[in-house]
Amino acid sequence: MAASSKNTKHNPKFIFVVGGVMSSVGKGVTSASIGRILIGKGLKVTAIKADPYINLDAGTMNPTEHGEVFVTEDKDETDQDIGNYERFLNTDINSVNYMTTGRVYNTVIERERNLEYNGACVEVVPHIPMEIIKRIKKAQRNADADVTIIEIGGTVGEYQNILFLEAARMMHTKNPDDVAFVLVSYLPIPARVGEMKTKPTQNACRTLNSAGIQADFIVARAAQPLDNKRKKKLSTFCAIPEENAISAPDIDVIYKVPQAFEKQKLGDKILKSLNLSPRKTNMQEWNKMVKRITSAKQEVKIAVLGKYFGTGEFTLSDSYISVIEAARHAAWAQNRQPVLTWIDSEEYEQNPSKLKELKKFDGVIVPGGFGTRGVEGIISAIQYIRKNNIPYLGLCYGMQLAMIEIARNEAKLEGANTVEMDPKAKHPIIEVNPFQADNIRENRFGGTMRLGAYDCKISPNTIAAKAYKKKIISERHRHRYEFNNKYRKQLEEAGVVFSGVNPDKDLVEIAEYKDHPWFVGVQFHPEFKSRPLDPHPLYLEFMKACIKHSK
Ligand code: GLN
Repeated sequence: MAASSKNTKHNPKFIFVVGGVMSSVGKGVTSASIGRILIGKGLKVTAIKADPYINLDAGTMNPTEHGEVFVTEDKDETDQDIGNYERFLNTDINSVNYMTTGRVYNTVIERERNLEYNGACVEVVPHIPMEIIKRIKKAQRNADADVTIIEIGGTVGEYQNILFLEAARMMHTKNPDDVAFVLVSYLPIPARVGEMKTKPTQNACRTLNSAGIQADFIVARAAQPLDNKRKKKLSTFCAIPEENAISAPDIDVIYKVPQAFEKQKLGDKILKSLNLSPRKTNMQEWNKMVKRITSAKQEVKIAVLGKYFGTGEFTLSDSYISVIEAARHAAWAQNRQPVLTWIDSEEYEQNPSKLKELKKFDGVIVPGGFGTRGVEGIISAIQYIRKNNIPYLGLCYGMQLAMIEIARNEAKLEGANTVEMDPKAKHPIIEVNPFQADNIRENRFGGTMRLGAYDCKISPNTIAAKAYKKKIISERHRHRYEFNNKYRKQLEEAGVVFSGVNPDKDLVEIAEYKDHPWFVGVQFHPEFKSRPLDPHPLYLEFMKACIKHSK
């Protein structure tokens, strides 16, 4: 990423991205794509997510309701949009770039208790917005960013995000040239009418106005492109220049969004609104990546197996977004179109004869998970996969359950289990991490898992060594339980190769199975580090094995 050159040094600039009409229309991808095109203009960019909920982090929220919990290098459990920023900006985003209402209040209350307000009456306004601004500026400084994008969660008009809007307004009032506003709004096309309607967006603009904010840009999310008539309407009724109404129709691959924006010269328009002069864009690397995506024709068929998969495609794609994206990055890099099929493991519990459907796939992923539902179904599927030489990638729970399967069926340890399933398991193959025991006993669940980046030492001549081509790697974690080292020897004798171990605490990080073309379980989540411009080595190696298997 190019840093700004000396002769272009300017005040740090801030772009607030807010939502109109409804949520889930792609504010995160819009924010990330704006970041990408500004990087293409040689600017140093960072992105912040401000979420209106009280939770101190996303870790205690159910992913089927809230979406994936993303984990940063520095041990934070954040909203999935931080993952979007990392993937689009191709950089690590740290904990300082994520705030929630709960976090903001927490800090203000702590300060008040520490007498840091010098006897003042501490009030919601201005003290809460001031803390928000403080956090925004800290993230800007931390990244030394020329441009900081701040995405405010939810939609304008909600009680919840008004204090974030107030912070944005305060920043704009103080430095109008340094702050721009982008409203990402939804334009419905009612089937009965067949015409795109701008009225809900007009109302969103007015709501934004009542918070003292005028949008500079409207990104018009819709099933169709924005036509001139609608652009004119948005310009007249929302008080934006016509060319600042940006068309954002549904698109098959999110990584094409930056290009779609650049076609409309959004980069230069944003620079102009921030009082910066236009610059040439260099998106060569990005364009090359997108070209690879569109030119991949042949399919690679991957089954993703877990519980809760009965909840529907939409929920799933949000709950497992990093796994899905990592699989895509790896497949595209090998000129393949990934086709992911979701399989609910509970089906195998009810009807084991269904297991043979797994043969149709080129590879199987068991992603991370918690709790007891569907687990026996996963374990029998893993046995089937192992016996039938189907490439297998187990992520976190997917590694733990693979070890249980091998313990039961190869090491003949009857009653082998994880204590998450059976606290009194006869053979606790997966046990409570000794560093976790107190947390569980005392109900301290928020932010207490083994989280964030940890080192892992790789053994030579293993699949892991072939994938990573390094002796020491670092990957991100999010789990409470660990492989029980008391069983290491027995599992080795049963065919397991422990190819990656944490050097400080001697914890098992990667486990492979010898008599199989590609069977790997990892205690961490490699998907958090996969980027479209830099696919993850382990996913790449898995995908290679799947392609080989498909032949
Ligand atoms: N439930 C398991 C644990 O806490 C696995 C967690 C995961 O897959 N992220 O250790």
